[in-house]
Amino acid sequence: MSSKRLVIVGGGITGLAAAYFAERLFPDLNITVLEAGERLGGKVATYREDGFMIERGPDSYVARKHILTDLIEAVGLGDKLVRNNTSQAFILDPGGLHPIPKGSVMGIPTDLNLFSETTLLTEAEKAEVARLLLHPSDQLTIPEEDIPLGSYLRPRLGDALVEKLIEPLLSGIYAGNIDQMSTFATYPQFVANEQKAGSLFEGMRLMRPTAQVQGQTKPTTGQFLSLSTGLESLVERLEEVLERTEIRLETPLLEVARENERYRLKTDHGPEYADYVLLTIPHPQVVSLLPDADLRELEQLKTHSTATVTLIFDEQATLPIEGTGFVVNRRAPYSITACTAIDQKWSHSAPNHTVLRAFVGRPGNDALVHETDDVIKETVLKDLEQICGQTLAPRQVIISRLVDGLPAYTVGHAGRIQIVRDEVMSKYPGVYLAGLAYDGVGLPDCVASAKTMVEEIAIQHGHEQSNA
Ligand SMILES: Cc1cc2nc3c(=O)[nH]c(=O)nc-3n(C[C@H](O)[C@H](O)[C@H](O)COP(=O)(O)OP(=O)(O)OC[C@H]3O[C@@H](n4cnc5c(N)ncnc54)[C@H](O)[C@@H]3O)c2cc1C
Repeated sequence: MSSKRLVIVGGGITGLAAAYFAERLFPDLNITVLEAGERLGGKVATYREDGFMIERGPDSYVARKHILTDLIEAVGLGDKLVRNNTSQAFILDPGGLHPIPKGSVMGIPTDLNLFSETTLLTEAEKAEVARLLLHPSDQLTIPEEDIPLGSYLRPRLGDALVEKLIEPLLSGIYAGNIDQMSTFATYPQFVANEQKAGSLFEGMRLMRPTAQVQGQTKPTTGQFLSLSTGLESLVERLEEVLERTEIRLETPLLEVARENERYRLKTDHGPEYADYVLLTIPHPQVVSLLPDADLRELEQLKTHSTATVTLIFDEQATLPIEGTGFVVNRRAPYSITACTAIDQKWSHSAPNHTVLRAFVGRPGNDALVHETDDVIKETVLKDLEQICGQTLAPRQVIISRLVDGLPAYTVGHAGRIQIVRDEVMSKYPGVYLAGLAYDGVGLPDCVASAKTMVEEIAIQHGHEQSNA
């Protein structure tokens, strides 16, 4: 039996998924997870009191990314999967709230009749969108190299649609300015669908939810999945099913040093030794923990902090926010960036209550996140009262800060990450990187990143075993 050891640093969803895959791939390896905090889960955390099941961080994942569903089912939580309710969501722009146009997928029209009903664009702007979609310019070519998402979409859809609808919808997820965001690392499916169908319009029609294809304007089930027991129950279940993994809480990694073909990992509780190290911690820490590697590409990867602010109302308060919520156009004069009507979106979350969850903190302007709870609460209430046109009196406000939040995937992201991984491989052989900074920011992307890296470790381990 080999006494080789894999140390996974970080006990968020990436680290725990990595431990799960590693147990299955390596019957002969000792596996340890080092987690700096006093709990597992990282950004995944659920408020579970008084019958509420409210997510403090991520609240769901995109259903079409099966890898997370497969993991949830494999650990026995498949019967807890729930889909979001769908009803109208809105864009808040300087002129007020506008329903997100029907007949669109991720903001891109797929049914021009339904799309023509939108109040978000002027008649002239809508006509321009239809012209560009139905008669794309001969000059348009499928990009072979990464370009800004704005540069890809603007000539295909027009500036008005990009700025009024698509930018607010998409840039929040990838924390970026649409004119700097990487097309290939964020929404490669746009290009792939255009290539497949011959035009963006026909390509996006391939992505329509079945209900929309069948002519229903309001699908009854949504495109997102969550757990009726809260996403944190996945963290707990992963911990339960890990049979051979030693988990050390309150053990931050402080230093990585090479010692006799192994790594000596300095922690507050003495050194840990490892043959393979998988770092799933926030990328700025990776840069400082691996000083012998030139990681300037990683150093330049910007993040911004966010906070979620959940407002619980005593009963089913009547608010003029109907539907599942709204996202805020950055030109609108508000501090909040989005607001979800939790009770409308998730049946399991807050029965018989009205619960709103607002987000604060934007790329380039996240100072509010570092203010006191009182300041955040007052700012959010002021915004919501102005938007709702009434005084709001929540019985409870829960603030969760996610200070090392979302990285901005700008043009060339995937290429830079490859350079970073190659550099780490050459200066720190046996050290691997996974998590939201590298291969996608969503929960399924993190799980996929964990799986890929564990498979790479398996290849290296296999080589070493056969050379031994
Ligand atoms: C506001 C917000 C909303 C989001 N909403 C969604 C959503 O709805 N759907 C979705 O799919 N994704 C969403 N995401 C993204 C998703 O939450 C993250 O991609 C994912 O949770 C990242 O997991 P991780 O394990 O890579 O990192 P983390 O969750 O950050 O975990 C890293 C862990 O490393 C630990 N750590 C840090 N330093 C050290 C150290 N030196 N030594 C040891 N341990 C250390 C930390 O304590 C932490 O537990 C959201 C993100 C944010 C910020």
